[in-house]
This record gives sequence, C-alpha cells and structure tokens, in this order.
Amino acid sequence: MHSQNPGRFPVPRVIVIGAGFGGLSAALLLRASGNDVTLLEQHDWVGGKARAVPTTAGLSDAGPTVLTMRHVFDALFAATGARLEDHAKLIREPLLARHYWPDGSKLDLFDDRQASALAIRDFAGSKAAHEFERFAQDAESLFMLFDAPMMQNPEPSFADLARHALSAPQHLPTLLTFNKLTQKLAHSFTDPRLRQLFGRYATYVGGSPLEAPAHLSLIWRAEEAGVWRVDGGMHHLAQVLADRFQAIGGQLLTGAPVHHLEADATKITGVCLKNGHRLPADFVVFAGDPRALATGLLGKDVSHIAPTTKSAPRSYSARVWSFASAAIGPELGHHNVFFASDPASEFRDLRAGRTPTAPTIYVCAQDRGSGRGRPKGQERFEIILNAPAITSKTPDPEEVQTCRQLTFQTLRRFGLTFSPSPPDNALTTPTGFEHLFPGSMGSLYGQSPHGITAALKRPRARTALSGLYLAGGGTHPGAGVPMAALSGRHAAEAIMQDLVST
Ligand SMILES: Cc1cc2nc3c(=O)[nH]c(=O)nc-3n(C[C@H](O)[C@H](O)[C@H](O)COP(=O)(O)OP(=O)(O)OC[C@H]3O[C@@H](n4cnc5c(N)ncnc54)[C@H](O)[C@@H]3O)c2cc1C
Repeated sequence: MHSQNPGRFPVPRVIVIGAGFGGLSAALLLRASGNDVTLLEQHDWVGGKARAVPTTAGLSDAGPTVLTMRHVFDALFAATGARLEDHAKLIREPLLARHYWPDGSKLDLFDDRQASALAIRDFAGSKAAHEFERFAQDAESLFMLFDAPMMQNPEPSFADLARHALSAPQHLPTLLTFNKLTQKLAHSFTDPRLRQLFGRYATYVGGSPLEAPAHLSLIWRAEEAGVWRVDGGMHHLAQVLADRFQAIGGQLLTGAPVHHLEADATKITGVCLKNGHRLPADFVVFAGDPRALATGLLGKDVSHIAPTTKSAPRSYSARVWSFASAAIGPELGHHNVFFASDPASEFRDLRAGRTPTAPTIYVCAQDRGSGRGRPKGQERFEIILNAPAITSKTPDPEEVQTCRQLTFQTLRRFGLTFSPSPPDNALTTPTGFEHLFPGSMGSLYGQSPHGITAALKRPRARTALSGLYLAGGGTHPGAGVPMAALSGRHAAEAIMQDLVST
C-alpha cells in the first residue's frame, strides 16, 4: 500500500480530508516530513470556514477576520523551509477593536496595554483603568498557564492541568470559585460596559459569558498579544498555505467530496470519493467536523469514531453578511462592535435556541485599518450576529428578512447605514453553514465550550481506529484559526510518532 520508492523505506501514503486550517496544517507538516500526501476538499476553494464571496468591490471574507497567534503560522512555514512573510503580507493592527454602546459611549482597545488603560481611564475613570490592568495581567498569566499543558499538548489531562494550576495559586479563584466567566467579570470590573465587552470574548469559541468557564478570560490575551490583517483577506492565508503545500510536492484535489472512509477489521484502508473513485491510504486525517463521522455521514466503517460529538451540546452558529456597499456613519476601524443595551438578553435568547431580538453586532470594515484612509465609494464589509446552532433542518422562510431588519435597523440606531443594502444572497445562515460544513448543525466552533472541563472533552488527534486521525476546530485544542492549525500539528505529530513506533 505504500508508494513505490525502490531501495528505500516505502513512503507512507496519507490522505487529508478537508482544506480548512486544520487540514492544511496537517497536510503541510506531513508533506514536509517526506510523506506522500493528498489533500481532498469537497468545495472548489480552500480555507473551509475562511471562505470569500464575490462582491462588486472584489472578494469579501465571509469567515474569520481576526488573526491572532501569528507565530503558529510562522512555525508552519518554517517547517517547510520558508518564511511566511515571503508568501503573505500580514499587517499588525494596533487598534484591536472599536466598541460602541447604545448610550453613545465609545471605546477603542489596543494591542498596547498602556494605550488601552488610558482609553479606559478616559471612558470610565481611573478605577476602571486599574481594574483593566489587573484583569489584563491575570489574562496574560492564565494564557501562559494553559499554553503548554493545554494548547500545545496533544493529550492534556485533568491531572496535568491541576498540577499547573497548583503552581500558580493566584488562579485558583478563577479555576475553582468562579465557575462562569460572567462571575469573574463581575468581580473584575465595576463598569457594566467593561463586563459586557470582555464577556463577548466567550463568543470567539462559540460560547456565552453566562455559561463559559471563567478561565476563557485568557482569550483577551491572545488578542492583546497581536492581531494581524492579511493583505488579500483571511482566505488568502489559506490559499498561500495550499500553494506552499503544492510547491513542496503535495497533491491538492478540490471539488473532491469524500463519500465514505474504508477500514478493515484493524485499520483504515482508504477513502472513496463521491464520484466512486477509490484512493488507498496508510493514514487518513479527517479535518472536517468530527460529528460528521459519528453521525454516519462518512460511512459505517467509521461511525464509531468521536461518539461523544453526537450528543454533546454544540457551540453557536452565526448569521453572516458579506457584501460591498458605501457606508455612512461613524468612523469605523477594521474591527467594530456595536453592543446591545441589555448584555444578558442576547445570551438568554441563544440559550433558549432563539434568534436574539437585541443582538450585539460585529462589523468588519475589511478595507479599513492602520495605514489606510477611508475608502472612496463601495467597500467590503462582513457583519456577524451570533445565532444558535440549528436543531432542525427546516429553514425559516422569513429568516433573511428578519435578519435584515434586525441587523440594519440596529446599526441605523448607531448612525451607521449602507447604500445599497446587501442582496439576500449576501447572508449565510446557520442552515447555510450546515450545508457548507456537513454534520456541524451549523455550529462554527465544534462542541460547546460551556463547563469547566469542556476543553478536555473534545476529540483528540488519535482515534479508536488505527490509521485514522482527526484535526480541525472541532478537535483539541479547539476552534479559531490558530487553534485549528495547532490541531493539524497534533495530528501530523501523532502520525509521525506512530509511524516510527510501527
Ligand atoms: C463567520 C465566522 C467568523 C469567525 N471568526 C473567527 C476569527 O475572527 N478568528 C478566528 O481565529 N476564528 C474565527 N472563526 C473560526 C475559524 O474560522 C474556524 O475555527 C477555523 O477556520 C476552522 O478550521 P477547521 O480546520 O476546523 O476547518 P473548516 O474551516 O471547518 O474546514 C473543514 C473543511 O473540510 C471540508 N470537508 C468536510 N467534509 C468533507 C468531505 N466529506 N470531503 C471533502 N471535504 C470535506 C469542508 O468543505 C471544509 O473545507 C470564525 C468562523 C466563522 C464561520
């Protein structure tokens, strides 16, 4: 079954399914280690959730917009003997986000703690600035506490985490006393607007501050440590990874949906495409949503894999507008957040599986940012509203119109209007996400991050079936562009270790 390589060890044949960041990272690393790697992607584009849609102003991102932990991508390129900066232009954005409240108040936060503290002092007074500095220091040290034993560790255990936690007793209240992020924030900040702002970071992994564990306050640190804008859009970063993969001899097939995986009594043997073509393999990395395996979408030979994903609660979905238009209103940054007046009502609606009636709205003005002036004429926007994952596949015929009113009437109250209004097909709904990413229930970040042990419950790279591995935001260490890329690294390293041991 190995590729022919006369006179030498046979070259293992690896198939990676799914060209999202997890699959791209696994494919690159496995190819860089000398394997014969084929990357199969059902869509015509690479990047998965980091997709782009055509608009009158060019391709507009319709997925992730915030790139953090750039070092993960520097390391990926370095592993292939290249430098990221020679392949993509990444621009650091000192302004992390511009935040607006219905009462007219506004706050900019920066990648420089002092600059953020000064902005917070002007916004809410010296006490709030001190509270922020304490919170930011705590988030930084929490991030460091979790980085090695959790994110970088392919097989984290409760015991590992407990050992690390005991070495940093200042975090015991976060880990033991406040079980919810919202409780920690109530303790950290006097000003309710700051509680609302820092609580929103739970949505970065598809959760609610009312239910996410307190230690997710560390997400703030990932942003404070640097946010980059990718010239050409986030989808372009996926494209350069795919280009690099091909440049080092990997084979990429797009428009190649996998119908099922094949296994004998002991191990994986290959994959079968929807067109009936069969590809034998020694190793397969499945980098789509692992719930697709458990629900039988990839055939009965692998339906026993990742069984917990079938019943585990799902993370949130979203309604995403992606379009070009001319905007009138406040001076936007690249990342902008328009908060709801009642911070809890949105999350109560989401918990009940309802569309929030008073949403917080994120607006990415893709053509704005540091070093750029205000664009003339039409520019590209991505607007995101949190939504519950789908529970039934019956689309609501009114969904687009309801979402249109909710989005643009809310933004109008902040003085922000768009002309022309985006067409209906500029909206991707939770049902649309389920179609794009089968088995996901429209959920964008895998299993729900709610609960103190949620991070330990995600499927890991190794599976119960020899030769089959998992990667992507639905697996450990979880969702988000850099995390998905780390999951790909975990899968590639597991394969290389297992190869050596066999
Ligand atoms: C609107 C939105 C905003 C986001 N914002 C951010 C952000 O700002 N910052 C951030 O870090 N993260 C953000 N995220 C999350 C981030 O995009 C994801 O966590 C990450 O991109 C997921 O990568 P992945 O490896 O899981 O692969 P995915 O992107 O889920 O891709 C999986 C791929 O597998 C393919 N596939 C599945 N099944 C098959 C099959 N049978 N055959 C062939 N191919 C198959 C799919 O077509 C897909 O291309 C956002 C996500 C969305 C949708």
